[in-house]
Amino acid sequence: MSFINGKVMLQHAYENGYGVGAFSAHNAETILGILEAAEEEQAPIMIQVGQKVIQTLGMESMKALIDIYAKQFTIPVAIHLDHSRSFEQTMQAVQLGFQSVMFDGSARSFEENSSITRDVVQVAKALHIGSEGEIGKIGGTEDDISVDEKDALITTTEEAVAFVEATDVDYLAVSIGTAHGLYKQTPQLRFERLDAISKAVQRPVVLHGGSDVPDEQVQKAIQLGVAKINVDTELRQAFTNGVKETFKQNPDEIVLANSLGNGKDYLKKKVQEKIKVFGSKGKAKDL
Ligand SMILES: [Zn+2]
Repeated sequence: MSFINGKVMLQHAYENGYGVGAFSAHNAETILGILEAAEEEQAPIMIQVGQKVIQTLGMESMKALIDIYAKQFTIPVAIHLDHSRSFEQTMQAVQLGFQSVMFDGSARSFEENSSITRDVVQVAKALHIGSEGEIGKIGGTEDDISVDEKDALITTTEEAVAFVEATDVDYLAVSIGTAHGLYKQTPQLRFERLDAISKAVQRPVVLHGGSDVPDEQVQKAIQLGVAKINVDTELRQAFTNGVKETFKQNPDEIVLANSLGNGKDYLKKKVQEKIKVFGSKGKAKDL
């Protein structure tokens, strides 16, 4: 196992035209499923710790769990803090040794968002940790964030450039037509805007709400500069389907290792599919 600075990992993906899957973990079985999938595909991955699991299991415990499991594998891993809403929480992750942190100030004013993001970026850079910021509002519901899809704002090229100049953030989450959660209709990514932003900021772009976006659209986005694709909903769905399948076969099943284990297997298969779509299969040896 090797833990890698998130910036180094994503810069390699960005320069070599593939995407790194940033998969959200929620318990021991999901951590293990993600790691087993990445190991089989020999892909570098990010494991994301989000706000919901921090509320239920705690950040320190999740970090410790991922550390322990990752030791059993050889692939490059970066542990990432997803959608932190405070400077303090971001610093807690830095202190615990995360390799990548996101401060999400997209609900704040431009000035506040860039000022706090800049502070996070400076600490992260000094400690060789990757940093992610967000400009524009991504639709849908994730963790404690809810933005009406209609009000989801597509990021403008101007604000993306101004934000990067103000913060020098390593990778940038933008709103280009994806949403958190499942889609009511097939999403249509705004490729022209992505292309313009990507050329202007010259650094990896992050695609949030990567679940349920057609593969061709994700691959086109990667060609245009997306290097990190967040996947959560589809993994939770796969895991849940695996658990449900166990109870369908045997409604009286009470061995958790069987139901949760089946959930893990379903999730693992989904992660393997995503790795192939993102083009990161076999890239572990290059890092
Ligand atoms: Zn997100």
